[in-house]
Amino acid sequence: RFADVAQAPPDPILGVSEAFRASTSPNKLNLGVGAYRDEDLKPVVLSVVKKAETKIVGRAENKEYLPIEGLDAFRKATVDLLLGAGHPAIQEGRVAVVQSLSGTGSLRVGSAFIARFMKGATVYLSNPTWGNHRNIFGDENVEWKYYRYFDADTVGLDFKGMMEDLTAAPAGSVVLLHGCAHNPTGVDPTAEQWGAIADLCKERNLLPFFDVAYQGFATGDLDKDAFAPRLFVERGLEIVVAQSYSKNLGLYGERVGALVMVLNDKEAATRCLSQLKRLARALYSNPPTWGAKIAAEVVNDKELFDEWKGEMRGMAGRIERVRGELKTALDAKYPDKDWSFITRQIGMFSFTGLTPAQASGGRRVDNMTNKHAVYMTRDGRISLAGLNSAKVDYLANAIVDSVRN
Ligand code: PMP
Repeated sequence: RFADVAQAPPDPILGVSEAFRASTSPNKLNLGVGAYRDEDLKPVVLSVVKKAETKIVGRAENKEYLPIEGLDAFRKATVDLLLGAGHPAIQEGRVAVVQSLSGTGSLRVGSAFIARFMKGATVYLSNPTWGNHRNIFGDENVEWKYYRYFDADTVGLDFKGMMEDLTAAPAGSVVLLHGCAHNPTGVDPTAEQWGAIADLCKERNLLPFFDVAYQGFATGDLDKDAFAPRLFVERGLEIVVAQSYSKNLGLYGERVGALVMVLNDKEAATRCLSQLKRLARALYSNPPTWGAKIAAEVVNDKELFDEWKGEMRGMAGRIERVRGELKTALDAKYPDKDWSFITRQIGMFSFTGLTPAQASGGRRVDNMTNKHAVYMTRDGRISLAGLNSAKVDYLANAIVDSVRN
């Protein structure tokens, strides 16, 4: 019966961590998975998380199920974070929100909603995008296509290509947009470009589906990082959003996030919420309690909220600093090449241009890994969260050697 089940390929991102763990090189460096590390390259539990946990333990609460839609205090906190507390859409009751299993599970609930209520709609994904997007929509049998996004020549946004592809998308299609800090490229539209994308979505009746995995983590400022989804709402668009607390609150393994629909109509929001609950009931019944309590405690408590902002600025600042150090080192070692893209990109990743798999069979990435024990994804993405000052020189040497060979 099971003898014919084929071996699944390792996940392109999590598989890198497996290979890293198996490596015996003393120099090994894991720049694959996007998880924050401190300057000693150790995982971090935020101080506000520890404080919130102490408070929660002190309340000695029970382990009963949450409602299908999740913890109310968490749902409020999440929408406040996304739109800004007191936003008219919140006051008017036109926001549907279900707490779900971090960004991935929230995207999956959104995907299930599209499969059931937007039958035949195509989801447009940026080329490239976070690899799991294809699985998330594909596994719900939602058709997806790419829109042009990254321009390898400028190491920037192919805005013209993006607009052309979205203009050609049939009305009623869904456009998946990264709220900020595009993964894997680190290339975001400018404010003006976001405005043009919003106008196009409105004109062509495209549904924007924002993947907000890095709010506050990209620039250290929660409001700045929510610029795009807020702009779309301001322009009267209805949006769907998958939010994650993995990065900004460091709750990776706790699986904390939400699927949010900001609509123009209260009754529709009520009905959509009822259907989101119906979908979640069959997927996992109800979401986990612990992480949601932590997030709610932090966002809804003024003192902890302010402290969290400081910790986010600290994480974003450390990444920004090693970004600058890497560029400086590369400029010094290989001055003929323009490395300015490294500091233009934002968020936790740098898209190094080491690869294009189609041109070189990914050999440059192989050189990084096999010769230098630098573990990274095959698309040429490195996570700067896994880098510290002490390792900058080693990494720069490996990159220069790989680019030259
Ligand atoms: N979307 C993007 C763009 C991401 O980078 C990630 C995390 N790597 C996620 C969603 C989901 O992460 P999680 O499920 O941990 O929230």
